[in-house]
Formats: sequence, structure tokens, C-alpha cells
Amino acid sequence: MINFFSRRTFVSLMGVSLGAAALAGCSGKTGDEAADDKADSAEADGIDYTVLVNKQNKLPDGWEEAIELEHFTNTAGWDVDVEKKAYAAYLELKADLEADGVYVDLDSAFRPIAEQQRIWDDFTKDYGEEYTKLHVATPGYSEHHTGLALDLYLIIDGEDVYMNEDMVQYPEVWAKIHAKLADHGFILRYLPKKKIETGYSYEPWHIRYLDDPDMAREITDQGITYERYLDALDPMVADCTVDYGTSQVFEETDIDGALDPILAMVSGWEGVTLQRIAFTDDQTCEDNVAYVNELREAQMPDAAEFDQALVLLSDFHTPKEIGELVFEADADYNDYQWILGRTQGEGSWNLMTQGYA
Ligand SMILES: [Zn+2]
Repeated sequence: MINFFSRRTFVSLMGVSLGAAALAGCSGKTGDEAADDKADSAEADGIDYTVLVNKQNKLPDGWEEAIELEHFTNTAGWDVDVEKKAYAAYLELKADLEADGVYVDLDSAFRPIAEQQRIWDDFTKDYGEEYTKLHVATPGYSEHHTGLALDLYLIIDGEDVYMNEDMVQYPEVWAKIHAKLADHGFILRYLPKKKIETGYSYEPWHIRYLDDPDMAREITDQGITYERYLDALDPMVADCTVDYGTSQVFEETDIDGALDPILAMVSGWEGVTLQRIAFTDDQTCEDNVAYVNELREAQMPDAAEFDQALVLLSDFHTPKEIGELVFEADADYNDYQWILGRTQGEGSWNLMTQGYA
């Protein structure tokens, strides 16, 4: 179909039309100034291997000119480019894993801004700008631009396993891989249940080279995101925990998909800091399907009927200077409700209403 995509990129783009949130962007505010300063430019004598690139922090200017790439063809026959030192470290990791009977290869690593721009333009043409903004990483803001982010795939009994839904069937293999990352200067970048900090749902395959095994070990041992380690979290979410609860219906990625419209709304509430976002329960969600359809008929009369509702609760604190906001100043709000609706397989969550019932 679109030949510049690697197989997995293609698969995750296909996922978008199925409502996957893998490429969705939260619209939080910018990270702290230290991280911004750090990202200002690539170092004159090469690149800064500790650079933070995420949905709020752009690839430093001059990066693509400064990096040295290594090119190879993987077992599936796809061309892959990786930053030179990251590739050498990856080969050591790979050998280390093979000694333990674990076989991996690289799906994609370096992705030029121009390629992300082509994806962006294609989506804008097919789905419009609003949809694209929500579902495609903005060119310049993908960690893959650094050449230091690597997507692994598994080779199980001699077979390449690179589809996301297949790869997640091997948690014990990933555990072995993750245990060896820090020794070779890598970290696991998108941790489980940390989308609120990283902007991405759990990806066991996406690893990041830091060129510093001690730093990688420290981050890994603390079990924290790279954003938190660098103290680069937006104050809006820095103290927020997400309680995914227990559900027979919704997986972690379903709840993650609801964080995007919620964070987009809260980011317009200047100075408000989130303390907690929590899943309610399956029954409460089920009980609200009729209600979200009433709201849909009023707000989006052309949209298809929703067959799912999602009800989340949140705690947050308001700033001392409340400005135009309708909340009380310097106050704690608890169990503030968010109600979303969607049509399964048709797209992402629509935030239909929020507040107290
Ligand atoms: Zn990746």
C-alpha cells in the first residue's frame, strides 16, 4: 500500500482506523525548562545521547546532520538505519540474549522527520487535520528521529514475530530482554500504565539507548519513566496516578485512549494539577451507554450509535489564582466524573460530559 512504511508502522497505522491509540497524542503542556534547554541543539562534537524527545520536546535542530547512521537489512528483509553507537550496543545486547536462547532483530529505529511528514500529510489528506493531530505523532516529536530508539521484534522457533498483537503474547521473553537492557546502556521507554507520563501506552519492544549503563541501571532499578528521571514532567500530571482498576471489558490501552481527550481538556484549565484518574467499574460503564447516546444525539447527530461508555473519576487541585475557571481557588476536587462514548471498531473515545452527576 504505502511502501515507505516498515511493516509495524503500517500495522499501527492500520490500527488507527480501528481505534488503536498507539499514535495518539496527549496535548499536555511543555516539559520543564531544563529539558527544553537540553533539547535546544545537538552538541557540537556529536549528539547528546541523553536527549529527551517526546510529544512536548522536539528533536534538537541540526540533529539529522550530526548523527552517524549504520545501515543493515534485518531477517525479514527490511532496511533499517540506527545511530552508530546504539547499533554497536544493540549487537552486544543481541549476542548476550542469544547466549540465553532469546533471539531478536530490529524492526525500525531511525525515522527521518521527512518520513514522519509524509505519514502526516497522507493522514491529513485521507482523514483531515483534526483526526491527524490526535492520531499521528507530529513530525519532529518522535523519539525515532533520534536514531537512538529501537523497535525490537522476536524470533520464536525460527519464525519472525513482529505484529504487535503477536509480540505481546510472549511476556516471559520480554522479561528476559528487559532484564539485560541496562547492561548495554538501554532503557525500556514506554512502561506499563505510564501513558500519563510518556504519552504512550506500554510498548515492550521500544527501547532507548542512553550510552550510559550506570544511568540506564539507575532508571531501571527505580522503575520510573525517563521523563520522571529527568524531572521533565508537566506539573499538570507530575503527581497524578492512574488507577486502571479491574475490568473484564477494557484493557489498559482502552483506558489510555480516554486520557487523550481528558488531558486535552484539563490542559485548558490553567494551573490545575491532577492527582488521580481512576476507572470506575464495568457495571457503571454499561449503565451509561444509553446516556452517552442521548448526549451523542444532541452533540453529534451524524455520528454512529455508541455501544460503549467509559466512566472515569478524577481528583485534582485548583490554583490559588483561579482566573476565568468555574472552580473554587486552591481547592481539592474529588471523584470528578468523566463520561466518554465510542463505537467499537469505529474510532477513539469521545468525551461527552464531565463534572458531578
Ligand atoms: Zn518505537
